[in-house]
Amino acid sequence: MTDTANSYNSLLKSQQVKALELRTSKAKERIKKLKSIKSWIEDNEEIICDALYSDFKKSRHETYLSEIMPMYGEIRYIIKNLKNWMYPKSVSVPLFFIGTSNKRIPQPKGNALIISPWNYPFLLTMKPVLSAIAAGCTVIIKPSELTENTSELIKKMMHELFTEDEVTVITGGADTAIELQKLPFNHVFFTGSPKVGKLVMIAAAKNLASVTLELGGKSPTIVDETANLKEAAIKIAYGKFLNAGQTCIAPDYLFVHTKVKDKLLEEIQSYLKKLNDDPENYSKDYCRIINKGHFSRIVGLIKEAESEGAQVITGGHSRETDAFLEPTLLTQITPEMRIMKEEIFGPLLPVLEYTNLQEVTSFINKNEKPLALYIYSKNRGNQDFITKETSSGSVVINDFAIQFIYHGIPFGGINNSGTGYSGGEEGFKEFSHLKPVIKNHFSPSPLFYPPYTKFVKKLTRFAAKYLA
Ligand code: NAD
Repeated sequence: MTDTANSYNSLLKSQQVKALELRTSKAKERIKKLKSIKSWIEDNEEIICDALYSDFKKSRHETYLSEIMPMYGEIRYIIKNLKNWMYPKSVSVPLFFIGTSNKRIPQPKGNALIISPWNYPFLLTMKPVLSAIAAGCTVIIKPSELTENTSELIKKMMHELFTEDEVTVITGGADTAIELQKLPFNHVFFTGSPKVGKLVMIAAAKNLASVTLELGGKSPTIVDETANLKEAAIKIAYGKFLNAGQTCIAPDYLFVHTKVKDKLLEEIQSYLKKLNDDPENYSKDYCRIINKGHFSRIVGLIKEAESEGAQVITGGHSRETDAFLEPTLLTQITPEMRIMKEEIFGPLLPVLEYTNLQEVTSFINKNEKPLALYIYSKNRGNQDFITKETSSGSVVINDFAIQFIYHGIPFGGINNSGTGYSGGEEGFKEFSHLKPVIKNHFSPSPLFYPPYTKFVKKLTRFAAKYLA
């Protein structure tokens, strides 16, 4: 075993001891820890904003809005409900089991590993940490290597608030994550790409660790002929260009009814113009592409699409020095283009038109199941048709991204876009084992035991007919 492997191993061993102590921890103690995280964030809002700005020039306000504010909401929601979530729940006693009682006790799974991405590096690392602490687990966090400043800050924060045997951060890249995954964690919570998600699932299988996979993919946005086009345009543009398109639930591509295509595109263009008339410097509130690799990948998508007949109708301008990429709309798109095959994860919006909704749902159903699907429509029939005919992590009608912060509604993907949920009670359950405890008070079950006399056989038949 290498020195690194040895040190990870002894770290987990210390967390295994701590997990036994946490197994019986009370809601009050867990809430105290959550409150300490909240206070730390309140005291360090500016420093968090600095870290994200240094990592990819994310504007301070956008960091507050999309990374800090949702943390406050989530902490408040957990604190308000944790006692109830931890409380054992029972079901009514089936007739056949008369004389018994039952309860389901949420117990912490034990030792959790959380691996997080770079695109919302603070929120997407810390949100599952909140769930793990609420559930009473220990945690090792492996944040993204691409947002070094934020990852180092999270490390400092956890070091100030927790002892290493309860919550700790190990920074590094893929090698670090791979090494950590060799250890027998009880639960692995991964947020990232479907490609790496598959590797995480394989690695977890070796220890039979349960997994939550919050993945990505191509989330469609559909605008029908009845939609409020001005409102749809603003929300689509906001959703696509927030974080420079580097959002897992961003609209990946747009399907618009032929009748309203020109009007919708005009509305999007006029909204973008209003944001900034100077595309060279665009808004200082507009963040940059995370690194050179992703920058050239996205620029490559534009070039390749153009060479195959796509038309850039807005944007397209890029500047390598600071990885700036203008919000870009592309038309004349065909499903065979690479831009329609891989998750874009950048500020490009390919636009396809349709005349019949069936074409749209068949296209979606031919591809991997998306994390999110957005519908802009006033027609209830169309809304229901798309919702029922397709499978996706979530559906949002006439809005964007609210599913991620909508307390009480589970957030997650399906198959290629993920498995399991994050946040709220479902997030708490991902880190908990709902352990059934059934107690016999005076159950007559031995009446069915051998020897199988005539009476036992008759009784069994009666029970099968009326009690089972
Ligand atoms: P990524 O999969 O490249 O990396 C995510 C994390 O996995 C990083 O910490 C990385 O170091 C680690 N990693 C790399 N190789 C690994 C391996 N072999 N085993 C274990 N861990 C490994 O993803 P990314 O580029 O950081 O993030 C973008 C992707 O994440 C997009 O696909 C996006 O849609 C998705 N995403 C999903 C959600 C969601 O909530 N569903 C949220 C944000 C991002």
